[in-house]
Amino acid sequence: MSKILIRGAKVLGGEPQDVLIDGEFIEAVGSGLDADGAQIVEAGGKVLLPGLVDLHTHLREPGREDSETVLTGTRAAASGGYTAVFAMANTFPVADTAGVVEQVYRLGQEHGYCDVQPIGAVTVGLEGKKLAELGAMHESAAGVTVFSDDGKCVDDAVIMRRALEYVKAFGGVVAQHAQEPRLTEGAQMNEGIVSAELGLGGWPAVAEESIIARDVLLAEHVGSRVHICHLSTAGSVEIVRWAKSRGIDVTAEVTPHHLLLTDEMVRTYNPVYKVNPPLRTERDVLALREALADGTIDIVATDHAPHPHEDKDCEWGAAAMGMVGLETALSVVQHTMVDTGLLDWAGVAERMSFRPARIGGLEGHGRPISAGEPANLTLVDSAYRGEVDPAGFASRSRNTPYEGRELPGRVTHTFLRGRATVVDGKLA
Ligand SMILES: [Zn+2]
Repeated sequence: MSKILIRGAKVLGGEPQDVLIDGEFIEAVGSGLDADGAQIVEAGGKVLLPGLVDLHTHLREPGREDSETVLTGTRAAASGGYTAVFAMANTFPVADTAGVVEQVYRLGQEHGYCDVQPIGAVTVGLEGKKLAELGAMHESAAGVTVFSDDGKCVDDAVIMRRALEYVKAFGGVVAQHAQEPRLTEGAQMNEGIVSAELGLGGWPAVAEESIIARDVLLAEHVGSRVHICHLSTAGSVEIVRWAKSRGIDVTAEVTPHHLLLTDEMVRTYNPVYKVNPPLRTERDVLALREALADGTIDIVATDHAPHPHEDKDCEWGAAAMGMVGLETALSVVQHTMVDTGLLDWAGVAERMSFRPARIGGLEGHGRPISAGEPANLTLVDSAYRGEVDPAGFASRSRNTPYEGRELPGRVTHTFLRGRATVVDGKLA
């Protein structure tokens, strides 16, 4: 493999430097590096970040290849600056055995746009009744360490306790989709003023908060580690803040859409805004931003949830829940957190690369940009402004809430172990 010299990049948003890549690794970082024989990438003051890591992606394969495949999903990930994604288990069949997680892992390796780390189901068939083969999935070639029934909540407290006890033995983590099922029967949107006015079934904040409260207490009781998916309410932030202050081993994520959009959008009845957990209020959005800035919320995760046209382009009540996110995540984070002064680029690297890799136990990703480290890198033109055009997405699905919205920032280059997966904003 030849050498690549990235010239004049603001590493983590700092002073412009050169970064020399040799094969799969970073050879040197400094000023005026020797470019002899190297391919040159003129960064021109763009921001260089470690390759992004998404702890929460739905790749849909096997079973729903009409909405996404491992190939199209990882191409979308690379376009968005990601070098690794964790693939959720709610596929068909469910990723609840060593066989299915190995299949997904292998597909990721074959396609090579970004690394795919499968997440295993907590319970057989996501049914919440019987623990899946957690040990076998961990020992498989996929080396699963994160387990989740995401899409559904592990609502049985005894099953949740057993899962936490089980993964403790090998340093794994249970990622909970916190949704008390009885409190959310028939729910269509956030329960509040807007749902009352529109006459749509409400998804109350307490349905999320009560499960988080229970699970941090369970994690404390068994001395295990729990991760909370897609926090969406100010009350959830308060509970996680309290749990961390007690020394409970809890981590939490927020999605880009919960950092920007509110339930006011539902007044349009455009199903593109239908998502689980639902869009909340302005007060929640501000609390989530503050919590992401102060570390109460550890990371940003996309909850990239592709759906085919026919599952979203229908009346609100019948539409599927979820939105695509891999290709717009960094722009939304720049818009809501960087351009508002809440985070600098080093802070973004922490929340979108270093910490998600650490929480998921993923080696080779989320590493510092320094000599000897794997060359997993993302170059961002933070000065760019442009309207989101889903027609240009690499994802097989187009269900983005940002169509036509102007957002800042654009990923121009992504490198996976020294190989360019994105060059000048286009897939290589
Ligand atoms: Zn979920």
